[in-house]
Formats: sequence, C-alpha cells, structure tokens
Amino acid sequence: MSSTISLGADNRAALRRLAETLALPHLQPGWVWLAGAGPGDPGLASLHTLHAIAEADVILIDALVNKAMLTLARPDARIIDAGKRGGRPSPSQESISRRLISYARKGLRVLRLKGGDPFVFGRGGEEALALVRANVPFRIVPGVTAGIGGLAYAGIPVTHRDTNQAVTFITGSGASGAAPDLDWVGIAKGSPTIVLYMARKHAGAIAAKLIEAGRPGDEPAAIISNASLEGQTTMVTRLAVLGEAAAVADAPAIIVIGENVRLAAGLDWLGALSGRLLDADPLGRSRLSDAG
Ligand code: SAH
Repeated sequence: MSSTISLGADNRAALRRLAETLALPHLQPGWVWLAGAGPGDPGLASLHTLHAIAEADVILIDALVNKAMLTLARPDARIIDAGKRGGRPSPSQESISRRLISYARKGLRVLRLKGGDPFVFGRGGEEALALVRANVPFRIVPGVTAGIGGLAYAGIPVTHRDTNQAVTFITGSGASGAAPDLDWVGIAKGSPTIVLYMARKHAGAIAAKLIEAGRPGDEPAAIISNASLEGQTTMVTRLAVLGEAAAVADAPAIIVIGENVRLAAGLDWLGALSGRLLDADPLGRSRLSDAG
C-alpha cells in the first residue's frame, strides 16, 4: 500500500517537473478543466490531461475514460463516475454541470475528464457554457478523438490523397435516440469518407440511406471496436451488410465507410506486430498501371 502511494507520488513529482520544464499551466483552485482522455490507450492522453489528473482535487469521469490513468491522481482526490453503469441512466447533463460549478465555487481544482475529445460528440460545449453562465473559469484540453485515433490504430488514414479528400463525422444517434435526421443524399454525394460514432444500433438504417442515395453496396466499411485498448478488433465489411456486422460488434465501436478502408491492408501496423503481412500497394495502383 505505502509503496503504491510513493510510486504515485513519484509519478506526480515527475509530471510536475515535466510541466515546469515545458512551462505548462497549473489546474488552479476554483477552475474547471474539461479535458480529453483519448480513445483508451493512456499514451494518447495529452500532457495537459495527465498533469491535470495529478493536480486535481476532484475528477468527474465518463464511462469511456480508461481508468488506468487515474493511478496518477492524488490519493485524496475524489473520483466521481459520471458515466452510465449497469444499464442505469447516466446522471443528467444538468446535474453534472451543477456539480462542476459547486466544486469550483468551493475553491477545488476540478477536472472533467471525457473520452476522446471533449468537443467531439462529448457534450463538452454544453458543460463549458454552463461554466460561462456561472462565471467559473475553465480551460479546454482537446484529446485524440476515436474517429481519428481509432482509425489510426486500425491502420486507416482518416484522409488519404488517393481515396478521399474530405471526411464527415456523424453521430449515429440523434438527440431523440433515433438515427439522425441529416441530408443523407448530400452526405452520400459530398463526402467520400464517413465516420460514424455511436452508430452500432442504426448502422443498417444509415447504410440503407447511403445506398439509396447512390453509394455502392460493395463499398468498403470497417468497424473498429475497443480502439487502442486491449482487445481492439477491426471488422472489414461492405456497406450492404454493415447493419448485420455492426449488430455483432463489441462496444464501443467506431465505423468508417469509404475507399480509405482499403488502406488497412497496407497500414495495419498493430496487426503487423502480431505477424500480419502488410501489402505495400493496398489500393492496387501498381497493378492498375501494369495493366494500363
Ligand atoms: N468524445 C468522444 C466520443 C464520445 S461518443 C471522442 O472524441 O472520441 C462515444 C462514441 O465514441 C462511442 O459510441 C464510439 O462510437 C466512439 N468511441 C469512443 N471510444 C472508442 C474506442 N476506444 N473504440 C471505438 N470507438 C470508440
């Protein structure tokens, strides 16, 4: 027990030294930092985030935050789980904002830790606006979002010159819980790559709308579960059967639709660590030029 505590103290001292060397700001009493923890791998959390974990008096975390990072917290820090658990509904957004404000007003150093990036489908904007209304000073610490970092861990560049010069990030469940009411024809025509968050349930319905709008049923798609975590899996499939594939995928899962998915055959660096052979020409460019 005592060795755990001193190890934690050593780590916090090391973080403090790093922060001093780099002249990073401190999480001050009475402040709230809304920080991204990245998709899972603690190595993807920023130094600002790790430093804030080590300094905070109170940390409110979401369900998707990797708890391993919390070993850096002070032994007397209060850690509050504000995520969904055991099927029970998560605390309301309002009650989370109220707590952030009341802790800050008590003069505590408050860290609101969110999975990925706090401003990407994370309701960070709503919580920050509540702080503005209450006159509580705050800082936003961006994080690696699952729709970019998760793809990188599957060897799928989110953009690639030969496949997609644009990308659209979409939430698969709208405010009411149904599939979002978007201009699917516009998206199908205008965005060669589509990245879907929170979309396991409505993946089939979304795929059907995209196909109806002209996207080919055999367009590649990938479902990346537990990205950057132990047990990460990537299922490569086709748009026409995306719904069926999503139904059996583990959560959390990020879905990507587009020709850039083909690059995984060449760039799955994580798979290569366990023996996968990488194809240096995953788009078949040289085969095309040989034929031509
Ligand atoms: N703010 C977060 C997103 C929150 S919404 C971010 O920037 O990443 C939650 C959704 O994010 C999940 O339903 C899933 O689609 C995606 N997600 C988060 N972590 C993930 C992970 N490790 N692997 C796959 N998808 C993940």
